Amino acid sequence: MALRTSRVGGLVRVLVTGGAGFIGANLVHRLVDGGHDVAVIDDLSTGHRDNLDVVDRAIELHEASVLDQKALERAVAGAEAVVHLAARPSVPRSIDDPRATHRANVDGTLAVLEAARRAQSATGGPGPHVIVASSSSVYGANPVLPKTEDLVPQPRSPYAASKLAAEAYTLAYHHSYGLDVLVFRFFNVFGPLQPAGHAYAAVVPAFVDDALAGRPVTLHGDGTQTRDFTYVDSVTAVLADAVARRVADDRPVNLAFGTRTDLLGVLDRLEALLGQPVERVHGPSRPGDVAHSSADATRLRALFPAVEPVDLDAGLAATVAWFRARRAGGAEA
Ligand code: NAD
Repeated sequence: MALRTSRVGGLVRVLVTGGAGFIGANLVHRLVDGGHDVAVIDDLSTGHRDNLDVVDRAIELHEASVLDQKALERAVAGAEAVVHLAARPSVPRSIDDPRATHRANVDGTLAVLEAARRAQSATGGPGPHVIVASSSSVYGANPVLPKTEDLVPQPRSPYAASKLAAEAYTLAYHHSYGLDVLVFRFFNVFGPLQPAGHAYAAVVPAFVDDALAGRPVTLHGDGTQTRDFTYVDSVTAVLADAVARRVADDRPVNLAFGTRTDLLGVLDRLEALLGQPVERVHGPSRPGDVAHSSADATRLRALFPAVEPVDLDAGLAATVAWFRARRAGGAEA
């Protein structure tokens, strides 16, 4: 139990890997607003430069892969914290190309940890605080609900396996080299800047985009599968607090608040928000998908007692507003 919080809300030089992606760009906006000094490394494989338009003068952008050691070292130089979000996300993508997932998610995490270790030995100090994004998918086939972090992980997809390996490496670097680390298991994060309209789109943006376009939404399976949907601002609030207070722990921490909503329930809420029915079509279940997921948030709440999550209706309303603005050509990044 190695919880440590060793900084009291100071301004920090932070590197966000994957900072041009959905969660990354939302985090970068929050960190810049909070006065932190922010650098980003992103190869723009699934992220977009446009996501950083509003803040691009305020940040240092390294357009490169974390697998490019020289570029990564330049980006890590001087960082007191690294929030490692760069990854090849999505279960179906990993099933199509497991090696590409391994390279980005496992080799990529190892590269970030190595860069942090080199920075630590170069300065003789504690080295950067490294926060790593893992995923609820590591629980996989384990049917127990809610998911406590001590459950035995049972990954069902190459993506889940890659995230579990990334976690294990991160915690091993804490024990082997004394790096301050924090591993978060994100659940289903949604909100502005999350892309829709491609084969690997996450469920909320796919639903909102289809519904606004008047297209039927596709449910994989019967729609009774449940998820702990987490609005992106709730996630970035925790990440920013973790950076500011240098919160470290030698155990993974669920980053979700213990809600559980089925996909049919999300559609009902969407219909209520839009004031119109949303047509549904059912396709086959997808391999690697899990039936139910909900976090036990005890550990999260102990570490971050001040963070209050945005509720699902408010988060969906903000997401719909962002998609509407984007459709009208006036989205703000
Ligand atoms: P995203 O695809 O929007 O962001 C990932 C970013 O990483 C992209 O900008 C991409 O261009 C970048 N990237 C990929 N490979 C890279 C590499 N080799 N070098 C540098 N940059 C690279 O996805 P997201 O939803 O914002 O996910 C962020 C993190 O959170 C990921 O680690 C993901 O696995 C994890 N996660 C997300 C969710 C969710 O619901 N969105 C759930 C669980 C875990």
